[in-house]
Amino acid sequence: MFDYVIVGAGLAGCVMAERIAAVSDKKVLIIEKRNHIGGNCYDYYDENGILIHKYGPHIFHTNLKHIWEYLSQFTDWYEYQHKVLGFIDGKKVPIPFNLNTLHELLPESLAEKLEEKLIDKFSFNTKIPILELKKSEDKDFKLLADFVYEKVFLNYTKKQWGVKPEELDSSVTERVPIHISRDNRYFQDKYQGIPKNGYHKLFEKMLKNPNIKLMLNTNFKEVIKIIDNKIYLLEKEFKGKLIFTGQIDELFNYEFGELPYRSLKFKSETIDKKYFQEVGTVNYPNNYEFTRITEFKHLTGQKQEKTNIIKEYPEIYNKEKNIPYYPIPKKENKNLYAKYLKNKKKINNLIIVGRLAEYKYYNMDLVVNEVFTKFKENILNE
Ligand SMILES: Cc1cc2nc3c(=O)[nH]c(=O)nc-3n(C[C@H](O)[C@H](O)[C@H](O)COP(=O)(O)OP(=O)(O)OC[C@H]3O[C@@H](n4cnc5c(N)ncnc54)[C@H](O)[C@@H]3O)c2cc1C
Repeated sequence: MFDYVIVGAGLAGCVMAERIAAVSDKKVLIIEKRNHIGGNCYDYYDENGILIHKYGPHIFHTNLKHIWEYLSQFTDWYEYQHKVLGFIDGKKVPIPFNLNTLHELLPESLAEKLEEKLIDKFSFNTKIPILELKKSEDKDFKLLADFVYEKVFLNYTKKQWGVKPEELDSSVTERVPIHISRDNRYFQDKYQGIPKNGYHKLFEKMLKNPNIKLMLNTNFKEVIKIIDNKIYLLEKEFKGKLIFTGQIDELFNYEFGELPYRSLKFKSETIDKKYFQEVGTVNYPNNYEFTRITEFKHLTGQKQEKTNIIKEYPEIYNKEKNIPYYPIPKKENKNLYAKYLKNKKKINNLIIVGRLAEYKYYNMDLVVNEVFTKFKENILNE
């Protein structure tokens, strides 16, 4: 009855289902364990009509025109450019650290001198990783790098990941830049926005195709069995393809042990005033237990009398209790993942895609792009 079965109705699963149903005109069943579609991008309206991103703020941003155009078939956009402030030394200053941040936190004469030297050495509107600056022979650059590392990066990383930065892949530290510019936006991508009526509506529209059937509140293990590397759907051998967007270690019954993740707890509060903070997100690297506060009305442009905020508390991941949000970027975890990936060959007709199955932190645009690639390679010409 079905040509394809997809595990997971998150972004990866929904885009794959839409492509198969619309382009290949084949029948798809999606199995999802939560009670809603959209995975971590899911949003809903609260009792005051405020649109909340249930699993933390999701700002769509990309330089890939074809991805923007593809998603624009399913939604109009609120043209939002994300701004983040960091609460540092008692002040709220632009993040990522840029020339405006420099002037707000350092004495004016020092800030002016550093600005001139940075532009001279690296030129205006460039991004320079703080680790590169730290290695510099120049005493002023080293001082600046140490300052940003201590005030912006170190404690945020410890809270977010529960370990010191040096215990993570160097790729994490390497990515943190100083932006030699006056641009206070968090992202510089060409296309940025929030779906006007929410991500949920976008996903509903994607799945509105008679070729797609959806099964919510169902763990794939209740309906799918793998025996002798063959796939069984409700006890019958399934000859179509299985597209898996869940956790790869779960698929293989944790054969080599669990892949580690970092989880989060979200505490939502309604506040009886029009706005709570100046911008969409304020980071708290050095104070409090939470890492950041997001106020959704900034993201969506809604004008309600009340407002809603979410505080994010990083947590240890436990598969019985919470959700695996972030793969932990460490070499030993990548090696463990590689072992699972080798197992993939053992199951006939298995395609893996998405952030859990690939054990990779992916922004939304790259998830869509990855689905496009896998669709083209494995399905389009069948
Ligand atoms: C806090 C946070 C903020 C983010 N902010 C941004 C942002 O601003 N911009 C951006 O571009 N990206 C952001 N992302 C990344 C974005 O969430 C991901 O790119 C996207 O959600 C990945 O989609 P996915 O389908 O791969 O995974 P998911 O959304 O996790 O979907 C996987 C689905 O599979 C289901 N599933 C898992 N196991 C099973 C099972 N056993 N049986 C049945 N179903 C199962 C899950 O319930 C889930 O619905 C953020 C991520 C987080 C965690």
